[in-house]
Amino acid sequence: MSQSKATLVVGGGMSGISTALELSELGRPVILVEKSPFIGGKVATFNKYFPKLCPPTCGLEINYKRLRKAANLSLHTQAQVTKVDGGPGDYTVTIEVAPRYVNHKCTACGECAEACGSERDDDFNQGMAKTKAIYLAGHMAYPHRYVLDKEACDEADLPKIKDACKYGAVDLDETPQTLTEQVGAIVWATGWESYDVSKVDYLGKGELPDVITNLQMERLADPSGPTGGKILRPSDGKEVESVAFVQCAGSRDINHLPYCSGICCLASLKQICYVREAAPNAKVYMFHIDVRAGKYEEFYAKIQADEAVEIIKGKVASIFPEGEGLRLQVENIESGESLKVDLDMIVLATGIVPNTADLPFEATMDDYGFLMLGDAPGIIPAGCVRRPADVATVVQDATGAAMRTLTQE
Ligand SMILES: Cc1cc2nc3c(=O)[nH]c(=O)nc-3n(C[C@H](O)[C@H](O)[C@H](O)COP(=O)(O)OP(=O)(O)OC[C@H]3O[C@@H](n4cnc5c(N)ncnc54)[C@H](O)[C@@H]3O)c2cc1C
Repeated sequence: MSQSKATLVVGGGMSGISTALELSELGRPVILVEKSPFIGGKVATFNKYFPKLCPPTCGLEINYKRLRKAANLSLHTQAQVTKVDGGPGDYTVTIEVAPRYVNHKCTACGECAEACGSERDDDFNQGMAKTKAIYLAGHMAYPHRYVLDKEACDEADLPKIKDACKYGAVDLDETPQTLTEQVGAIVWATGWESYDVSKVDYLGKGELPDVITNLQMERLADPSGPTGGKILRPSDGKEVESVAFVQCAGSRDINHLPYCSGICCLASLKQICYVREAAPNAKVYMFHIDVRAGKYEEFYAKIQADEAVEIIKGKVASIFPEGEGLRLQVENIESGESLKVDLDMIVLATGIVPNTADLPFEATMDDYGFLMLGDAPGIIPAGCVRRPADVATVVQDATGAAMRTLTQE
């Protein structure tokens, strides 16, 4: 089967990668556009997958292997679609690509980073560490090629970085590019972001360093993360003796996100396992409105049976500093008891918001801002930009989106 026009897939997370691979493996030309320097989306930053608790690196590696072999698939990183004209079967799109300053000759040997004195906040590690201004995002980074954050780099470091590369891969003269492409169909798979939980003022995020988000917890627990997999209190590096997971941090709240973010209960149940493994003597709490484990009830039951874990139904009322740690106030809805719990660290199960900033087309959205299949201009949403979901579900969704493009020839 062949198609003269390519399909444009926007977003290089699990949804976008899966859509692009399904199409490419059917013999269709595909252009995959990712705004950051590396693909993989949120999954690339996870320590383990629920419910099997296997590392997501296996799934990613299989997909990266398929990508390396994919015919007719062009990947643009640090790229954004800024204009969409036309309709199904005949779109003209404009793609702006930022310079990487490191070309295809890079072997990822790391000598450029060693020569570089400038540092930047490590967004891959959720701001809990620094990288050099020339860096790779994690050991699985794809493409496995360094990127230079020129704004974070001192002028004096630039020639040192260039001279350190014996392969001639550092190209400081690269300039931004504007590409114009004709495509037959567009799949929008830009995923999700965490709700800005500092807006939920009674939960203490932003003011209290030991109140972290669930994405930060993924990096803390990861052996390749900023603490080498030890679950340490951010303020002073103490090994945690008590941790609470606070559900619905922003979700199911009419003042914030009225909807259920779908995935956070399972993410917290998984992260309870991280704490039980890394700090077996720590006491663990989970505070929730109700636990929504969906098809993974057995996984939930296993954690309920663990005596070191206390799962309490109650919406947390406040979090504040107490001594060297934190105190959390909550009413146990089942017993009617008002509780004050002292803790070393609190993990907020932050809500999910769709990544739909600055869309270059008129979108059809639901009441909460998730993209829907609209009549015009026929752009097909896939994955978490459509609704919160786990990886298995977004991969199925991506396959559906790929098939739908075939009807738009
Ligand atoms: C704490 C936590 C833990 C989780 N753990 C698990 C788990 O163990 N197992 C599981 O099955 N699910 C888990 N999930 C759910 C999982 O994160 C999602 O299913 C998955 O991220 C969905 O992939 P996606 O491609 O739709 O979105 P994303 O992962 O968000 O990927 C979207 C991609 O699009 C890119 N992008 C964004 N905007 C643009 C733009 N304008 N142009 C170009 N590119 C853009 C982004 O940079 C990103 O690479 C967890 C969720 C949370 C919150």
